[in-house]
Amino acid sequence: MLKFSNIVKSYKTGEVVVDALKGVSAEIKKGETVALCGPSGSGKSTLLNICGLLDDDYKGEIWLAGKAVSKDKKVMTQIRREKLGFIFQRYNLIPVMSVYENVEYPLLMLNMNKRERMDKVVDIINKVGLKDHISKRPDQLSGGQQQRVAIARALVKRPEIVIADEPTANLDTSTANMVIDLMRDLGNDLGCTFIVATHDHRMTDRCHRVLNLADGNLSAFNPYETHRRAG
Ligand code: ADP
Ligand code: ADP
Repeated sequence: MLKFSNIVKSYKTGEVVVDALKGVSAEIKKGETVALCGPSGSGKSTLLNICGLLDDDYKGEIWLAGKAVSKDKKVMTQIRREKLGFIFQRYNLIPVMSVYENVEYPLLMLNMNKRERMDKVVDIINKVGLKDHISKRPDQLSGGQQQRVAIARALVKRPEIVIADEPTANLDTSTANMVIDLMRDLGNDLGCTFIVATHDHRMTDRCHRVLNLADGNLSAFNPYETHRRAG
């Protein structure tokens, strides 16, 4: 489904060069939930931005469904709109828009007619349990509710891949658990592939696979194997 090979990324600030990714490769299957772990500064956000087609300034290749992704900005934007969904640590909802309008927004980008948009938006808002809040603005909701809106917004177009950057970092334990279960259950239902940067063990424990970044290099381990060996 998603493959990236030999991704190299450096940031240059004046004379200072930081090698954020030093040639990382992995292949992620359809429907797989993959946790991307590693200490702060290890390159998680950099890799998510590249896999999310938000950054075209890197060496290496991204493959989606067997096709190499072009670095043409228009092509990247089109693929992003059609096939990718994003969930962020700080929710990134549009403050002046209602829950309904925030969730509808990605569908407006796809030129879908109003009726079809409404069916999809109402359906996913029901699924994340926010039916009674559909007309509210984000500042009228709790953090957990806002993240559920963000999940609905990411999933409403049934994207092939969902990219999530520390989605539970700002949530208390019980809200985080709810958000994790929601992502996993809805994702499974819709057949989405998830790539989730996280430090949260509740999240990594529920993922199929963990990719570990350290100092710009990637290694993989299977959390179940590790638990078994430890136990
Ligand atoms: P993580 O998400 O794991 O915390 P990042 O991908 O944000 O890691 O950062 C990887 C490395 O690249 C760090 O050393 C960070 O300081 C550097 N870096 C990230 N973004 C920039 C940028 N815009 N300009 C310069 N250096 C950056
Ligand atoms: P941070 O990791 O510092 O909290 P964010 O998670 O907010 O940053 O954003 C990560 C990246 O995604 C940034 O490069 C940002 O420009 C981009 N981004 C943020 N919001 C959106 C959005 N709604 N749509 C597309 N790209 C976004």
